[in-house]
Amino acid sequence: MAFMHVIDSDRCKGCGLCVTICPKKVLEISEQVNTKGYFPAFQARPEDCIKCALCCTMCPDVAVTITASEDAGDPQQAASTEENDG
Ligand code: SF4
Ligand code: SF4
Repeated sequence: MAFMHVIDSDRCKGCGLCVTICPKKVLEISEQVNTKGYFPAFQARPEDCIKCALCCTMCPDVAVTITASEDAGDPQQAASTEENDG
């Protein structure tokens, strides 16, 4: 299963908590303001993200989400069910 890491830049206040907590230094503060006039966080190194969700937990504005995606070419498809009609 793959996971998608998304920052809603318009909810972000640029507090930098997620940048500080990230163990992989994935996040940085943008140099461009969002619609609210804050400098939002963004994924500067998305390839390094381990989807640990620390940034999601830390964000006071719930601007960071990790979404599970089942459609990721996972070979684990061993779900077969049988029904017996009596
Ligand atoms: S999920 Fe973890 S590794 Fe990825 S950006 Fe957030 S804190 Fe960093
Ligand atoms: S913790 Fe949330 S509000 Fe603060 S910079 Fe990160 S995404 Fe933005």
